Amino acid sequence: MICKPRKYERTKSKKINYQKQHNTKPLFGRGFVFLERIQTTKQTIRLPLRLDLKILAIKKFQIPAYYRSSITGRIKESRRVTDLRKQDFAPTLLDFGPVQFVLARHFGFCYGVENAIEISYRALEENHGKKVYLLSQMIHNQEVNNDLESRGIKFIMDTDGSHFISWEHITKDDVVIVPAFGTTLEIEHLLLDKGVDVQKYNTTCPFVEKVWNRAENLGKDNYTIIIHGKPKHEETKATFSHSNHYGPSIIVRDMEEAQQLANYMLGSKTRSEFYEEFSGKFSSGFDPHVHLLRVGVVNQTTMLASETQGIADFFRQLMISKYGEANLKEHFADTRDTLCYATNDNQDSTYQLLESKADLAIVVGGYNSSNTSHIVALCERKFPTYFINSENEIKSHTEIHHFNYHQKQNVATHEFLPSKRPLRIVLTSGASCPDTLVDRVLLKMLGFFEGAKTVEDIIAAY
Ligand code: SF4
Repeated sequence: MICKPRKYERTKSKKINYQKQHNTKPLFGRGFVFLERIQTTKQTIRLPLRLDLKILAIKKFQIPAYYRSSITGRIKESRRVTDLRKQDFAPTLLDFGPVQFVLARHFGFCYGVENAIEISYRALEENHGKKVYLLSQMIHNQEVNNDLESRGIKFIMDTDGSHFISWEHITKDDVVIVPAFGTTLEIEHLLLDKGVDVQKYNTTCPFVEKVWNRAENLGKDNYTIIIHGKPKHEETKATFSHSNHYGPSIIVRDMEEAQQLANYMLGSKTRSEFYEEFSGKFSSGFDPHVHLLRVGVVNQTTMLASETQGIADFFRQLMISKYGEANLKEHFADTRDTLCYATNDNQDSTYQLLESKADLAIVVGGYNSSNTSHIVALCERKFPTYFINSENEIKSHTEIHHFNYHQKQNVATHEFLPSKRPLRIVLTSGASCPDTLVDRVLLKMLGFFEGAKTVEDIIAAY
């Protein structure tokens, strides 16, 4: 069954009231600042472009003080105020003497995560005595999810959609928070049918809604929607559910799957092969011989920008070679990607880290965090890289436990710190990681270097 979005959703008036409701402060002059990008092979140019209410707005969120950082947060804020237009993606070098940290220009909590945290803690405050549920992990950070759980929030599902609490236990008197990834129309409707107010504490990130809007436009223009995303990720499941309503939709995880899909566009493989190969990744009634003649691409907001661009270019070229350049518009919607600003900022900052000389990299974040795994992948291109979810994974100056996301397993590495001095360590994190966690990693590492300057000495400059 295909669910239809209900009337209250994403109406124009909701968009117009967005600034008012969110106490949004303009960055320059009047109104919001609207930033979009032109992707070139060598650099990203940011330009103020058009009026789009789901774009970067500077807002101070009310989040618990223990997520605010006095070290890396202070440095980031200092960089932010001296570079409001985000022209400078160079990292910050923190020289402690025997050890130096190369700190990314952008990392840590993004707009959507802070928004979700603020709303979730508010939901708890405003609903003493009620059951407060989160549909699934609010964000992919165990520390934040654990804290919410310790304050009484219950999770209905895990990230794979397996239930901790069955739907029959949820009643209209309960509070249900929709996470930053959004949710499927099917779940939304199930809750509405129970009488649950799904909008009151809906933390769906506006950048995710932007993807849904793009999918809607593509569907209305009779394009099939190709979603570049991870099929099991909550956001991609939600996007697929919404997109499915507007037009035939299919998920491709990576370039390899895009190339597999091309076989059906070129007619070199059969329908039955398609249904087997893409099982569970296409909308109901999808016919590869009918629905791959005219396509457009949207992305999960946190994919690797270069891969997303590569996939869109691949389908574009395929349509040109099949139908000719003059007929491209008839067969391919040539639109920009739907990656969010945080993904772009963090990945661009990571490319700048790769320009640095360093001996190793530490990336902090949740092991199921998509955006963090892409930062890890980039760092791995140049440095021995350790992906950790907290300072507790650094067992000693000779042993670190870290996550190998390729093999999806924890591994231990011994003698991970080279003996050279000064040792230079790249340090960054994903968009769902509190800066305080990065501080704790920095402090723990610092403790291994005798004669290092104090944190106070270093941050006095910021
Ligand atoms: S990573 Fe992007 S899409 Fe996801 S919550 Fe943050 S700003 Fe929103």
